[in-house]
Amino acid sequence: MCPSCFSSGFAGFPSYWEFEAFEAELHQKLVHRQLLPLPRILTQGLAVMAPEQLYQCPNCGETWALSSPDNAWRGYFLPLAVANAYNSKLIVKDRIKRLAGVAVAIGAGSFIHWQILK
Ligand SMILES: [Zn+2]
Repeated sequence: MCPSCFSSGFAGFPSYWEFEAFEAELHQKLVHRQLLPLPRILTQGLAVMAPEQLYQCPNCGETWALSSPDNAWRGYFLPLAVANAYNSKLIVKDRIKRLAGVAVAIGAGSFIHWQILK
């Protein structure tokens, strides 16, 4: 992070308007070569939170990861290491939610089964 690229990242874009303002700033930095796009990474089959594009700052060497907002997903623009940690946290949260959903379904199924057998 430096004044040439971005002084801080975005852990999410609360509105599409804010994402558009960010995109305009990003575009200016690309035009002035303050950020350079890295070869596109393949995101096919990956979760929505996976970064779709990486950029590198020629001034400080920071690698930035961009994930665009998509419906309920708020996206992010973060240094790659921070983005990876953020993604890992989200994946764990997602797994816990799924396990909780399965536990509730098993609990409800058992309750209904118990009610029928009573
Ligand atoms: Zn920089």
